[in-house]
Amino acid sequence: MPLPHPSGSPDPVYLDHAAATPLAAEVAAAMEAAARTAFANPSSPHAAGRHARRELEDARERILALVGGRGSGPHRDRLVFTSGATEANRLGVLGTPHGSGTVGFSARDHASIAAAAAALEDRGWNAVSLPLDAEGRLDLGGDWPPDGPALLCVTVVCGQTGVVEDMARVTTWCGSGPGRIVHADATQALGLCGVSFRDLGATTMACAPHKFGGPRGIGALVIRAGSTLEPQAPGTQELGMRGGTEAVALAVGFARSLELADAERTVEAGRLATLRATLEDRLAAAAAAAGFEARVVGGTAPRAPHIATISFPGLDRQALVMAADLEGLCLASGTACASGSATPAPALVAMGLPAAVALGAVRISLGRTTTEDDVTEAVDRLGRVFRRLRA
Ligand code: PLP
Repeated sequence: MPLPHPSGSPDPVYLDHAAATPLAAEVAAAMEAAARTAFANPSSPHAAGRHARRELEDARERILALVGGRGSGPHRDRLVFTSGATEANRLGVLGTPHGSGTVGFSARDHASIAAAAAALEDRGWNAVSLPLDAEGRLDLGGDWPPDGPALLCVTVVCGQTGVVEDMARVTTWCGSGPGRIVHADATQALGLCGVSFRDLGATTMACAPHKFGGPRGIGALVIRAGSTLEPQAPGTQELGMRGGTEAVALAVGFARSLELADAERTVEAGRLATLRATLEDRLAAAAAAAGFEARVVGGTAPRAPHIATISFPGLDRQALVMAADLEGLCLASGTACASGSATPAPALVAMGLPAAVALGAVRISLGRTTTEDDVTEAVDRLGRVFRRLRA
């Protein structure tokens, strides 16, 4: 992969795909063509505008179909383009509920969900941080559902651990009927895990294509038929739910990247699961050779194939990520929004992991461009880091 690196430094190995993936060449080509031919404003009534509108609506329909939304008939689901999953989470959490009630979220969610729940609290809602079990899924033992209207936020694949939530179990627990809303964040699931919006049982679903070879700067909120949404950025565009001139080329790139991911999904998910298992086994051996323990967080739960959070208790995750960086190895100490934070990842703390395990955990994430050589290199380089740290 052509990553820039100063001469004399080791070839970079990129293992941070849960934060961002490189744009796939096919996607870049589709976007370039759209940027050239569909540059007009989709709201303009002239021929150029109508062409841009057709491209935009075509991308919307293709994405809605691929995420398992209902695209036709009187009870159609809708898809609103946003700037990314952060904005889609905010629109889903703040836009759907009316009146007041209880919003439940958890430490396995992206920070944008806790922020949106806090904003909902300012509007009179009661915000409840739900506990996690030791495997990193929602602990359903607590006081839920509450009386009255409730919004439950569920992250399908945790961006920190890769642990997959059991959506059927959670939506049944939440309860259905008037006043019950489920917002699903499928950002780390879409692409590799085969998400179907209708099967999730959610009212709204957030996603973004830059996690699977698509462009950055675009995401989407899928909205179940019959749900009304209060716009957070009012305007005439996006079905009146999100103002601003639509980014047609980005929408085209989103659709193309999802088509590619969908076509490759079964093979790619198997390939990455095998690579990750190899990585986890070899890293454990390399750590043991230097006298360190390695523990895969959430390792006994179902996990998406591209994410591994591995803890080396006694080591400091920030020091490890920096030492790896000097070896040309791109890893993360946690989700991108929380990396650099002095406190350990909230999901790991909520799982009840001992402090040394949470503080020694790094996230390694694989993607479409990851090869077996990358894994071998990563283990060799981290082995050197372990030996240095031991010395
Ligand atoms: N939700 C999850 C689960 C994520 O992992 C991320 C990003 O890492 C986001 C939301 C935010 O996505 P975006 O960067 O598109 O705003």
